[in-house]
Amino acid sequence: MSQIEHLSCLIIGSGPAGYTAAIYAARADMKPVMYQGMQPGGQLTTTNEVENFPGYPDGVTGPEMMLQLEAQAKRFETDVRNGFITKVDFSGSIHKCWTEDGHEIHADTVIISTGASAKYLGLESEQKYLKLGGGVSACAVCDGFFYRNQEVVIVGAGDSACEEAHYLSKLCKKVTMLVRRDAFRASKIMAERVKNTPNIDIRFNTETLEVLGDGQLVTGVRVIDRSNNQESEITCTGFFVAIGHQPNTAIFKDYIDLDETGYIKYAQPGTSKTNVAGVFVAGDAADKTYRQAITAAGTGCIAALDAERYLAAKGH
Ligand code: NDP
Repeated sequence: MSQIEHLSCLIIGSGPAGYTAAIYAARADMKPVMYQGMQPGGQLTTTNEVENFPGYPDGVTGPEMMLQLEAQAKRFETDVRNGFITKVDFSGSIHKCWTEDGHEIHADTVIISTGASAKYLGLESEQKYLKLGGGVSACAVCDGFFYRNQEVVIVGAGDSACEEAHYLSKLCKKVTMLVRRDAFRASKIMAERVKNTPNIDIRFNTETLEVLGDGQLVTGVRVIDRSNNQESEITCTGFFVAIGHQPNTAIFKDYIDLDETGYIKYAQPGTSKTNVAGVFVAGDAADKTYRQAITAAGTGCIAALDAERYLAAKGH
């Protein structure tokens, strides 16, 4: 096993929150080390065009923006590492963290910016074809390309589902959207856009019973219309799930206060402080309300400033 490494500031996770924290921490000479996690760049790497981040009047793609943020963090000598933290021990004044290969890190400050991950329905058939790479996806922008001129199904009724359905409608012959209630959760403008797209067929009150396939690839979906309890099958080659996200906070649960849905609770509103001194949180891991790149970046800045002040108060 490798030697214990002592750090002034460890940043866990690499979305807009983590990179912004890194830029601020590096410029404050805290020599931050970032572990990028399972999905370097975070959720925005699965987004297409970002049009609402100030400073990009013509828009920017999510992956391009993340590369720029990474370059900016590295310019100030953030040590950006591949890999992820699998275990922590925040019981003492030194915050202990372990990487996936057992490397032990002792950090004076930790900034958690692990974000959130897509949720799935949890059906056995869904998980089977997801694992096989046979046609189940939670990211239309990542995988829609594979279903050009084909028929796909998407589940969900929030802004994400509407955005993804619309994206898929441009690539695919037909998109069937399964909405479990008799109404959208999405904002009116997003729902209207979907309703006005001719090749999107919206089925209200409809739930997925089973993802059908030939053992390798998805061939359809068996659904039930709850308004009349009629079952039917929809032919498709792609099954997209867009039903929300789960915060990536499981490894912290023994030490950090979480709410009932797993989001990290702020110990002091208006700051990035968690219930553990020296451990701060930024971005979607603590935000189920706004979930925007710009709000994540803002909280990343706050976390770095709070970490810097924490260190200064300790005489570092
Ligand atoms: P939401 O939590 O807003 O919506 C999740 C949707 O999935 C709901 O319609 C819900 O149904 C449905 N759902 C949940 N579980 C199931 C299930 N088991 N079976 C079928 N349907 C299910 O998540 P989003 O990811 O859409 O959005 C998250 C946040 O991000 C929101 O605040 C949203 O406004 C924002 N956002 C904004 C965008 C934009 O403005 N461009 C783009 C994307 C997201 P039900 O309604 O019945 O609960």
